[in-house]
Amino acid sequence: MVTIKTEEEIKKMKKAGHVNYLTHQYLKSLIKPGITTKYLNDEADKFIREHGGVPGFLHLYDYPASICISVNEEVVHGIPGDRILKEGDIVSLDIGVVIDGYHSDSAWTYPVGKISKEKEYLLHHTEKALFTGLKEIKNGAKLGNVGARIEQYAKKHNLGVVRELVGHGVGTKLHEDPDVPNYGKYNTGMTLKSGMTLAVEPMLNLGTRKIYVLDDDWTIVTQDKRPSAHFEHTIVVRDDGYEILTGE
Ligand code: MG
Ligand code: MG
Repeated sequence: MVTIKTEEEIKKMKKAGHVNYLTHQYLKSLIKPGITTKYLNDEADKFIREHGGVPGFLHLYDYPASICISVNEEVVHGIPGDRILKEGDIVSLDIGVVIDGYHSDSAWTYPVGKISKEKEYLLHHTEKALFTGLKEIKNGAKLGNVGARIEQYAKKHNLGVVRELVGHGVGTKLHEDPDVPNYGKYNTGMTLKSGMTLAVEPMLNLGTRKIYVLDDDWTIVTQDKRPSAHFEHTIVVRDDGYEILTGE
């Protein structure tokens, strides 16, 4: 069931979203070669709680950490641990924050030190794909347009679109209806209405779109081991467009 949020609910989601944004900014400032992914996880956990939130992913579906950290060919759901970040890596931080029972969900991929031109290309165009898709959102628009636009943008730039994982509604639960795929056809799908809150999150690969799950049952990696990027905002549908909830 797709729910329309009241302004009161949207205010709470914005609060959760803002702490999510601040956590991203804080972690971004810590990223450098030589640190472990567990260090970033623990700093995120502390930071979120200090700002009145609870990490939204911890123990959800039995996930064992506070945030997801995926390096290079890891697409999403990487579990933080002893892995040490190296110069030239890219690292995707996917963060959930809950405040007053409302979730926010935002992911961003960051460079570790100096990265290759092709990794720069991937990061640049995956972020662009997110905002290109968001442009389709407004009251009365078809949901399929968002995925169609993202897919079209990715194809134009020769990037693989992960299809097995999709964006979603967000609210009192992290994952609500509807699904928001990063592919699709124009003028299909449900009609968006003001007050719907969605996580839009393209996951694009430098190579094949094909992925598989590692033996830890969580980490998803590209089949050809080429790098993958992930950019995600939680937004609310407005009469004339959208408003980002996981922002400043
Ligand atoms: Mg996320
Ligand atoms: Mg999400």
